[in-house]
Amino acid sequence: MRWRRILHNIHYTTPKERPRWSPDTPPVPPEPPAALSGGNLPASTASRDASADKMTFIRSKRRQPGVVMGKNERSVDLVLPELEAFLGARLTTGKAAREQHSRDESWHYPVLPDAVAFARSTDEVARILAICHRHGVPVTAWGAGTAYEGHPIPLAGGITVDLSEMNRILRVSAEDMDATVQAGVRRKQLNQYIRDTGLFFPIDPGADATFGGMCATRASGTNAVRYGTMRENVLGLTVVLADGRVIRTGTRARKSSAGYDLTRLFIGSEGTLGIITEVTLRLHGRPEAQAAAICSFGALAGAVDTVIQTIQAGVPIARIELLDDVMVAAVNRYSKLDLPEKHMLLLEFHGSPASVAEQAQTVQALAAENGGSDFQWTDREEDRNRLWQARHDAAHACKLIRPGCENWATDVCVPISKLAEIITYIRAETERSFLPAPIVGHVGDGNFHMVFVLDPKKPEELAEAERLNRLLVTKALELGGTCTGEHGIGCGKLEFLELEHGPGVDVMRAIKQALDPRNILNPGKVFKVSGA
Ligand SMILES: Cc1cc2nc3c(=O)[nH]c(=O)nc-3n(C[C@H](O)[C@H](O)[C@H](O)COP(=O)(O)OP(=O)(O)OC[C@H]3O[C@@H](n4cnc5c(N)ncnc54)[C@H](O)[C@@H]3O)c2cc1C
Repeated sequence: MRWRRILHNIHYTTPKERPRWSPDTPPVPPEPPAALSGGNLPASTASRDASADKMTFIRSKRRQPGVVMGKNERSVDLVLPELEAFLGARLTTGKAAREQHSRDESWHYPVLPDAVAFARSTDEVARILAICHRHGVPVTAWGAGTAYEGHPIPLAGGITVDLSEMNRILRVSAEDMDATVQAGVRRKQLNQYIRDTGLFFPIDPGADATFGGMCATRASGTNAVRYGTMRENVLGLTVVLADGRVIRTGTRARKSSAGYDLTRLFIGSEGTLGIITEVTLRLHGRPEAQAAAICSFGALAGAVDTVIQTIQAGVPIARIELLDDVMVAAVNRYSKLDLPEKHMLLLEFHGSPASVAEQAQTVQALAAENGGSDFQWTDREEDRNRLWQARHDAAHACKLIRPGCENWATDVCVPISKLAEIITYIRAETERSFLPAPIVGHVGDGNFHMVFVLDPKKPEELAEAERLNRLLVTKALELGGTCTGEHGIGCGKLEFLELEHGPGVDVMRAIKQALDPRNILNPGKVFKVSGA
């Protein structure tokens, strides 16, 4: 098969035609429209000094929207000796550690915490929170720092609690197909650990994130169309509340009617309601057979229609990803592949050998009806892994489109029947834009990403990305979708949460007020707290 040959012969690929936006021909921005320039910029852009270098650390506690007010340096000075008394060298005010915990993988400006605490147990997290709560000092949980909307950036300074040393797998039950892990365990670590049990944990945000971070962002990824998101795959949590109290939500039972569903309350709460220290997860049986396939399309509509028809036909597809032609070109360059530089569907089938073959044939027939060509599939593990690695490297590949630039990655999710409409709409808008904006997405559940590749030092580029992002999100909401399918709100989508939920955000505020009345947990994220 052709791409198998390609994958084995990566050194022999011939140079491809340049992608539409090449570093040699950087985009020429037009004058920014008056309505989007200067003080008319939406708050999230206007509040930044766009001419500042990205590595200029913001130290002010009042620059960002929704930041807790009234804290002062003295409060932090008071907690440091108390924390040091039991953390010792695992509490640091060193510049390197603070810088490392000042930014995530997004384009949002870094902000330094006052100190970083490396916790090793639930008890230590509880003591840290009890002390910070008493003094009103902000606390931000830190997993792997791979979030895309500025979630772990400590906007108000204070203490960042790094959970990476809480990395023990506490138990695995092959019989019950579940496991309990500390919050700092990473997803690849767990899958490596359980590889001989015949089980696996399917949720795979492209990055090797921690389970605490994945719970806090309600992460999903390429497998969600078949296995669900973190919402469906967590049975229970251990959580430390803002004042240091420890609670356990859920049990190991597969279902329960016992009271409010606190597990789901904390999943997606972005570290604003409590710090998760342990997670009990559902595991899944490894499929007997797996195969991956690719298929190219001249028109985006053909690719999207194939996705919709595949889902509607009830094919139990494990992964179905769309990469537009710009993204395929970028992936080719970064991963030294030779994929046809057209819109592409990248698929994976799980099941018995017969069912995998049947699924592949069904999708191939649907693709052919929609103008798909070059349908190729393989069941060789090595080939599948290399292809999916290339998919997971898409974010790095985007940066090659304009070396030296940053990715602003956004995501929305719509009902599957509306997928063609929104992709066609936003693609038409981006084709008129000067910013490269490749599309890649977990389209099987209506979720896709758009990556604006920009120079954050240029206000006109930030303004253009902001404009396109707004068009994308408002269209998604108009079509009955959500402003984010998996990345979350962080500090980047506050206003869109209000647009999506209206008065529902007041209910979220009431919950926040009940659990964190002093607003010390990750202040400035998800929504503005009144009075802040
Ligand atoms: C290349 C790339 C691809 C990605 N692809 C996907 C994707 O396909 N799907 C997807 O869903 N995401 C994706 N992401 C985003 C990111 O990986 C996820 O949001 C991930 O869940 C973040 O986990 P983390 O451990 O890095 O958390 P962090 O970034 O450290 O933190 C994220 C948020 O969770 C909070 N938090 C962290 N740990 C805890 C804890 N123990 N208790 C309470 N709150 C906590 C933080 O305060 C912060 O608000 C991608 C990111 C990258 C860089």
